[in-house]
Amino acid sequence: MSTGQWLIAPEGISWFFDAGADCLDFAAAPEPVHARDLGEWLAQRYDRLDAGEASDRDLADALALRAAIDRLATAAADRQSLDPDDVDTINLFGATPDIPPALAGGRRQAGAGRLRIGQVLSTLARDAIAILSVEPERIRRCDADDCRRVFRDESRTANRRWCSMQRCGNRAKVRAHRARQAASATPEH
Ligand SMILES: [Zn+2]
Repeated sequence: MSTGQWLIAPEGISWFFDAGADCLDFAAAPEPVHARDLGEWLAQRYDRLDAGEASDRDLADALALRAAIDRLATAAADRQSLDPDDVDTINLFGATPDIPPALAGGRRQAGAGRLRIGQVLSTLARDAIAILSVEPERIRRCDADDCRRVFRDESRTANRRWCSMQRCGNRAKVRAHRARQAASATPEH
């Protein structure tokens, strides 16, 4: 699965956001309105999934899972306790069959050739369970006051500060530069 996605900022500019975890990318994606939107988003990331596979029932499931992941990750980022109802939701999805691991290089297709949406949702739920269980302190918010977007810091040094270097990282650099210029332009007396 490829991570990250292009999002549209309120200013109408598209920017790339990699949330650092598949489940957080899912939560950060624009909310799917139709089953087709959900199918297309998932099919871009999971081979063997047909975009037309998603039903209205899948959409309802996906929206419930997405909302639970979003609230849990936000609570983790803010060092708040996790809502037991949301925990139950991701545990429920995670308890269903996920995408089985497969080693490339074989000759046969093990199991069903096509993925079902339910398997993908289970895999996303298990991803959420993993990141909320292991090093939850790596789930943080973008440092920019007007952003505060939630991501998981995957960097070795655990010092990621921005949702995106191109967006908030650069804006902060520009602001810091202007502040330095303004400070040096201020008369000393
Ligand atoms: Zn940001």
